Amino acid sequence: FAFGKIRDTFTKFFCPSTNLRGYAPISEGHEDFIMRLYLRIEPKYHLLSICIFSASCNSVVRTKNVSRCLNLGSYNYLGFAATDEYCSTRAIECLKIFSASTCSTRVDGGTTTVHTELEEQVAKFVGKPAAIVFGMGYVTNSAVLPVLIGKGGLIISDSLNHGSIINGARGSGAFIRVFQHNTPSHLESVLRENIAEGQPRTHRRWTKIIVVVEGIYSMEGELCKLSEIVAICKKYKAYVYLDEAHSIGAVGKTGKGVCELLGVDTANVDVMMGTFTKSFGSCGGYIAGSKELIDYLKYTCPAHLYAISISPPAAQQIISAIKVLLGEDGSNRGAQKIARLRENSNFFRSELQKMGFDVLGDYDSPVMPIMIYNIAKLPAFSRECLEQNVAVVVVAFPATPLLLARARICISAAHSREDLIKALEVISRVGDLVGIKYLPAEPKKQ
Ligand code: PMP
Repeated sequence: FAFGKIRDTFTKFFCPSTNLRGYAPISEGHEDFIMRLYLRIEPKYHLLSICIFSASCNSVVRTKNVSRCLNLGSYNYLGFAATDEYCSTRAIECLKIFSASTCSTRVDGGTTTVHTELEEQVAKFVGKPAAIVFGMGYVTNSAVLPVLIGKGGLIISDSLNHGSIINGARGSGAFIRVFQHNTPSHLESVLRENIAEGQPRTHRRWTKIIVVVEGIYSMEGELCKLSEIVAICKKYKAYVYLDEAHSIGAVGKTGKGVCELLGVDTANVDVMMGTFTKSFGSCGGYIAGSKELIDYLKYTCPAHLYAISISPPAAQQIISAIKVLLGEDGSNRGAQKIARLRENSNFFRSELQKMGFDVLGDYDSPVMPIMIYNIAKLPAFSRECLEQNVAVVVVAFPATPLLLARARICISAAHSREDLIKALEVISRVGDLVGIKYLPAEPKKQ
């Protein structure tokens, strides 16, 4: 009975999902899914979350049907998805030649010229000798980590690492220690507890130690403190595994990610992982590293040996996007996109802060969580924004701690200044209505 009642409330009021093209279709199953997630909360929190949601739902108005809106929720950071003529025409040509699928694993008939070209391009773009690509970013982390390390090894993972990393770490059988989010001093103390300083790799009780971090943390919008982390790993002879899902293409002068932005030599990052689902407007994931590492993965990683190869048109989309970023399409559109994303992100972040919103993350990051804290306010915030044709994604437990609910804004180079100004006006109005401007606002200039 309770589930039915709460589910009905959700169906009425919860935020719909959004897709890449800027439409926000009202998804029937979405609310049900979210509700089921909530019911997985530890029993002591069930009643609390149910009460908060029931109370909040009385205060919001059912939205009208919105068919088209400004998308502030997708990871289409550089606008390569759907709107880029150069990439789309090449992907369509590739579809005609190679079809949507190779219907084969990479080691059977699933390696085409597009796949090999993609791997060469990725290695060149991220600045490593070699690369291997997989059909999905999630699978890249969850299948590669267990091949790199196993029983007897130690994984030291940032406390806010993505679920795919957690999955891979657990699946590896290695001993896992977690360090406080983006806190190099705590990473060092975890390392010190586990090995003596200066001890050679061969004399330790661990076969191997891998420290896993992300370039930009997807729920925090925060840049990794990579320089400090790399220095500590060097000191304790631990390998560095960097997930650049949100940072590759999106930050750095030429889009080459956090190493470029923070001035870290890629030679100091042993395993560079990333996904194509964000800045490149496609799908799949990659690992870039030494030739030995990539050969080893090609011979041993089940996701390479036994899984379907990445769809050729998707691979062609990535190759084309990289060419644009490298200026190999004969234009400087790539550089313009990167500069535009940075300008847009920094403009939006500073305006939100001036309005009195509590915004997480760092300048230059296109991921901007607006803290709402109280989960009771989430449905009202997303519904009211949608009512005014602005689609935002709201995130709560279990993706965040229970009392740290937020709206996560993702900025794109495809947003015009007018789009952003309109979105800011809407978010400001809704912020006043829902009561989430927790910080003092800057007085408006006359
Ligand atoms: N790593 C991180 C840090 C992510 O945020 C995500 C998904 N957003 C993934 C890996 C998985 O990538 P994909 O969605 O491309 O499968």
